Amino acid sequence: MNATKYMQTTVLRIMLFLLASASIIACGQQKSIDKNDKTTYMEYEVKKTEAEWKQVLTPKQYSVLREKATERPYTGKYDKFNGIGTYYCAACGAELFDSKTKFDAGCGWPSFYDPAKPHNVKEIHDSAYGMNRTEVVCAKCGGHLGHVFNDGPEPTGLRYCINSESLIFKPKGEK
Ligand code: FE
Repeated sequence: MNATKYMQTTVLRIMLFLLASASIIACGQQKSIDKNDKTTYMEYEVKKTEAEWKQVLTPKQYSVLREKATERPYTGKYDKFNGIGTYYCAACGAELFDSKTKFDAGCGWPSFYDPAKPHNVKEIHDSAYGMNRTEVVCAKCGGHLGHVFNDGPEPTGLRYCINSESLIFKPKGEK
């Protein structure tokens, strides 16, 4: 091997090494952004890692909103609650339900027959636990809210069965 060829091979090796290092670093960065995040980091307008959600939510809110837990029936603070005002997402503050659409379904969870802003809630097919249900999540942050069923009152016939932990109520006139 002559000197020129040796130099060319060496330069090529160095370039390949740098390229490999750069891609390893890039992968590492990607991983650190997505750390502990299950599915929703890039999907929703409000983007937080699971570690960040843990910092801003209480343990109960986190288990419902981020891990899709269901609070025990008849235990939520908004189950037997009739305040006049608006319910917001406890995770990101999106406007979700108006007290005008709240009704007592007797099921143990706050129930509404219509979202305040249809574009703020997203419905997802849920086949967990061998059931065919429609999960309701906050369309801004992906937080789990509850499920929607077809046995609600008029005018929609829908029952949005929502965990109190996913909601924050503000009385009318209060921002
Ligand atoms: Fe939200």
